[in-house]
Amino acid sequence: MPDVAIIGAGMAGLAAASRLASRGISVTIFEPAKQLGGRARGIAYKDVMLDNGQHIMLGAYRETLALLEQVGVDTSQAFLRLPLQLHMQDIQNKQLISLQACSWLPAPLHILVGFLFAQGFSFSSKLAAVHLMVWAQLHRFQLAQDMPLSDFLAQRKQTQQLIASLWEPLCLAALNTPISEASAQIFLNVLRDSFARKKSDSDLLLPRTDLNTLLAQPLADSMARQGARIVRQAVKNVEPSASGFNVDTDTQTYSFSHVILACGPHQLKHIVLPDSIASALPSFEYQPITTLYLQFDEHLQLPRPMTGLLNSVSQWVLDRGRIYGQKGLLAVVISADKTTSDLPNDTLAVKVLSELQQAFPDLGSPIWHKVITEKFATFACTPALARPAADTPVKNLLITGDFVENGYPATIEGAVRNGINVANLVIST
Ligand SMILES: Cc1cc2nc3c(=O)[nH]c(=O)nc-3n(C[C@H](O)[C@H](O)[C@H](O)COP(=O)(O)OP(=O)(O)OC[C@H]3O[C@@H](n4cnc5c(N)ncnc54)[C@H](O)[C@@H]3O)c2cc1C
Repeated sequence: MPDVAIIGAGMAGLAAASRLASRGISVTIFEPAKQLGGRARGIAYKDVMLDNGQHIMLGAYRETLALLEQVGVDTSQAFLRLPLQLHMQDIQNKQLISLQACSWLPAPLHILVGFLFAQGFSFSSKLAAVHLMVWAQLHRFQLAQDMPLSDFLAQRKQTQQLIASLWEPLCLAALNTPISEASAQIFLNVLRDSFARKKSDSDLLLPRTDLNTLLAQPLADSMARQGARIVRQAVKNVEPSASGFNVDTDTQTYSFSHVILACGPHQLKHIVLPDSIASALPSFEYQPITTLYLQFDEHLQLPRPMTGLLNSVSQWVLDRGRIYGQKGLLAVVISADKTTSDLPNDTLAVKVLSELQQAFPDLGSPIWHKVITEKFATFACTPALARPAADTPVKNLLITGDFVENGYPATIEGAVRNGINVANLVIST
């Protein structure tokens, strides 16, 4: 029977551990951080629970939803589920652009008709959007050759309005990469999985609780019930041995038959690994995500749970009062903007506040704010990016994480799928 070490308790490591533990396989998960969950974790601040970043999921996150259900999370209660609706407020010309999926039509007609009835788009923008979706459908969302998304949108004759108000914000939200650098193929994969299959795939799922309560805690509790062990230490060295592998932390050496590396490529560089793995590790570029939390008077309520902002540094604003019951708390998300992520926190807060006050004039002044920047939030999802496979040249030494090849950008669903996949590889050996 395998005895498996998993190095890293992000969503990929937790998903792998959960699958293995549910099959009665002995699992030890190593994690040095105070909180489990990796890049999807809750953070206690003052007397509220924040997240290291506001996470948005989709109805298409099948493996994540199934995994949560398996460990006892009632996903119908855990998320505010909104049929696809994008409300984009242009703070310069005060225009509101709204796109809503059509509730009475099946996919993909729900989105095609949604484009035709969208508010704020010119007629030529609506037609261009429909043309792109029909083209993608006819080509099975597959490009002969990957290219930057901006080139693809130009080829498909998308209007400036459509690019600036829809495709660019969607690309930043899904791929966390500027459109001039983002992979058109991965963007098409996201469109395919969200819009082309089931109508509910395009639903927005907004967590109603912090990410610890939603994700890491139920997974860890369920694994503990099944006998999995968590060692709260960093792994320093993984070395093949006669019986499998020796895994060293600062204080102890452990022996396992299998090892699953479940930390990011930049973190793997701090672990001594067999040469054939270390030399083959890909070198990724990373993109930051900044989340600015602003606590206002508890009576504050925005018109919608989630609003996009255009012509501003701020990209999305979420009303955590409407979603989580954290009254008066707003979360502003800024993706893939290295200039902004380098600004001093207070400078950024002043800038964002002034943008919010232009979009929502009755806002008032915040009681406190908190900026959280994750500089290594996701790998830059660029065209034809070489991503590693889960198995390696060393038998029974496997890799998982959102960066492992799967056709998805860096997302919770990508991490969970890869985690389950690597566990299945162990189960099948
Ligand atoms: C701010 C932000 C916002 C995001 N928004 C979204 C979103 O809206 N929707 C979405 O789907 N995705 C979003 N993502 C992406 C998503 O969070 C990640 O894709 C996913 O959590 C990655 O999981 P992972 O397990 O691959 O990696 P990680 O979460 O990075 O896990 C790696 C783990 O390994 C541990 N580790 C590192 N070194 C060692 C060592 N030596 N020994 C033991 N353990 C080690 C780390 O501490 C970490 O816990 C966002 C990410 C960020 C940062």
